[in-house]
Amino acid sequence: MNQATGLLLCLSSLLLPAGAAHAWSEPHHAITKAALDVLPASEQDLLGKERAPLASDYCLIPDYVFTNKANARFAAMDAHPGEVYLQRLHLPLDQPENFETFRYFIGKAVESVKAGKTGDAARYLGTICHTIEDFGSPSHTLPGDNQFTLLQQFLPPPEEMKGRLLHGPVESGEIEVSIAGYRPQLLGTSVDEAAWHLLHRVNDEIINARSTTIPIIQALYAKDEKAVVTHQLKAATFDARVVADAIHTVLCQGTGKFDAGQATALKSAPIGACLPLEAVDLHYPQTQFFSQPYYGYPRSGLILESGKTPRPLKLNVDEKSGPLVDAFLNGISVGMGKPLTFLIPAGVFHRFTALAGLQAGLGDKGRVEFTVLGDGKPLATAIVNGTEPAHAFDCDLTGITRLQLSAVSRGLDPHSNYAVWAEPMLVKRAD
Ligand SMILES: [Zn+2]
Repeated sequence: MNQATGLLLCLSSLLLPAGAAHAWSEPHHAITKAALDVLPASEQDLLGKERAPLASDYCLIPDYVFTNKANARFAAMDAHPGEVYLQRLHLPLDQPENFETFRYFIGKAVESVKAGKTGDAARYLGTICHTIEDFGSPSHTLPGDNQFTLLQQFLPPPEEMKGRLLHGPVESGEIEVSIAGYRPQLLGTSVDEAAWHLLHRVNDEIINARSTTIPIIQALYAKDEKAVVTHQLKAATFDARVVADAIHTVLCQGTGKFDAGQATALKSAPIGACLPLEAVDLHYPQTQFFSQPYYGYPRSGLILESGKTPRPLKLNVDEKSGPLVDAFLNGISVGMGKPLTFLIPAGVFHRFTALAGLQAGLGDKGRVEFTVLGDGKPLATAIVNGTEPAHAFDCDLTGITRLQLSAVSRGLDPHSNYAVWAEPMLVKRAD
């Protein structure tokens, strides 16, 4: 960071409301630039003279809403009239709120590209970049505590660092970010679809950033600058890929030019690795723990035998050739009586499909009623006995924005209800 930027940051910090915090400062530029560098040539040309200020200026628009009044409107939302500084652009809220934020700004940016207003589009993109980068900053990873007062109780600082605020040191510094060779991914052919996929990319990004926070704090305590940078880069590199995907998607939608392969890959969306709304702040609170078949919480891609040993997801399935046991990578093991709720973008997906049954071998003595609900109303239900083939669900999602998967015990042996939703999938209408 040079002196002028440092001064600017300090000055604008004084104008921010209590609780507001700058993230990443200098790294915002480095991450945005790394993302812009991997865009296809046609997209770089489309941004033209707005490309440079997007990285040097616009990606900080949400931080400078009090000082840069001309650009403040690009970081404002119609749903929040009169709110100049939107904290939701810096710190993640819950999934539906984050989805609304992305939907709004992607919509504005796409609209601007379509209208030939490249300057406006680049400024809205600046706000999108900023939000993605802040959510993925190592110092924004502990909900509601960006100075890490809690982490400092777990990791007491050495004498010379006692009393220091950790936000800045955790995320600041000169980092060189490169994602050379990365091919930006299309997040959707419509605004709602793109916002939904971005939401899940950002969830993964937040979890990746969380994995860097403690190592950075430990490295700061140990005065190991190299390790600080290594872990900051782990977060920044992930962020840059997500930023590249978002910019690429906006420009594709604005010009109506889609890569056929990328559009085809979006025909269906597996949700077995998505975190449900019950995982508040992307982790399961104790209220969501189940006690059948063991004391635990839902797992993606595995099931815990007796609550201890991880096993691959396996179901008895009925194939044309006869019954067999199939293993599944995409799926969720769940407990009894704790339904999982997933946010569904309206009008994007046509059907929900999944196989539901009891884990082959472990659940042989179980009996479970599986129900798929849409906006609180049952769409389909099936009772599956332990050794029976899994039930194939295929539900119409028209008008649905909340999909719920429920499993309840209908048997006598509570320790056998090893319930699995395999290959849960949102499917677009075939065209
Ligand atoms: Zn910020």
